[in-house]
Amino acid sequence: MLRDYSLQPADVPVHFPALLSASRKEALRTDVKRLLKERDAVLVAHYYVAADIQDLADETGGCVADSLEMARFGRDHPASTLVVAGVRFMGETAKILSPQKRVFMPTLQAECSLDLGCPPDEFRAFCEANPDRTVVVYANTSVAVKALSDWVVTSSVGVPIIEHLSARGEKILWAPDKHLGAFVRAKTGADMLLWSGACVVHEEFKFNALEDLKKVYPDAGVLVHPESPAAVIDIADRVGSTSQIIRAAQELPHDTFIVATDRGIFHKLRKSAPGKRFIEAPTAGDGATCRSCAHCPWMAMNELEALAATLESGDNEVLVDPVVGTRAMQPLQRMLEFQAQ
Ligand code: SF4
Repeated sequence: MLRDYSLQPADVPVHFPALLSASRKEALRTDVKRLLKERDAVLVAHYYVAADIQDLADETGGCVADSLEMARFGRDHPASTLVVAGVRFMGETAKILSPQKRVFMPTLQAECSLDLGCPPDEFRAFCEANPDRTVVVYANTSVAVKALSDWVVTSSVGVPIIEHLSARGEKILWAPDKHLGAFVRAKTGADMLLWSGACVVHEEFKFNALEDLKKVYPDAGVLVHPESPAAVIDIADRVGSTSQIIRAAQELPHDTFIVATDRGIFHKLRKSAPGKRFIEAPTAGDGATCRSCAHCPWMAMNELEALAATLESGDNEVLVDPVVGTRAMQPLQRMLEFQAQ
């Protein structure tokens, strides 16, 4: 029987971003803009990183996106250097898809609980014990785990890809997120065997507290990322990836939304749907740990000072073993080709 690969509170770091004066921020923003040009670099940021960094990506011709779009943008952009503001698997994915480019991150300490909860050796044994199944892994995994897979998916393409494989009669081995896996299984009816990892941020959204909040805001729409527990997903008006949540906020008629995903997304939500009101879905984690603050502690490590320092020093380069990277590229390419059809 597979053990539970969710992280314990003690394994999750607490990270408090530095408070910067307005003048210091402006000086750093100026430095980053200059250094991006000097290094022929483009900034690729995730929706969950700090608003300052998202704005810099937008203002300098980079992108702010979900992990699928980040991967595609980095691969297709002509810059010789990519600076990825996100977590480690995003930097690695950029490097796998663009091995000829140099890829840097503001910090190499930015992990992901799903990646950490899927050790390659144990995952290999799980695959070997189930050789009749097509191995599908979520993008939030290490290069080594991707290299063991047949397909990589993101939350925006998980359902259509599993539908496609299931229609071909394939049985699925899914890793690492048990909540996203259960959501995809319920949507598609596919035969899916699930690994038991979880996102420390999304797992904290609580159904009872969300129901109470709905009573206070009865007309609010509920937008939920599918890494959340099933009970939270079940009362959503729209379930989707970060990009799909942003689109839903624009499309749905509600004036107010309760949003169950990392609160870093609120910056883009407010820009994309001005005039609408966004409320954080409630969490009830373990006291004062970052498990209960609806903000990923690893995403929070992408700070303006670290970004400028990386560009200045050339530290924090993402390196991937070329053999493992080439193997991992195949399932990633499959996803990108499927999505492009
Ligand atoms: S929010 Fe969750 S899934 Fe995203 S990087 Fe953080 S721990 Fe991983």
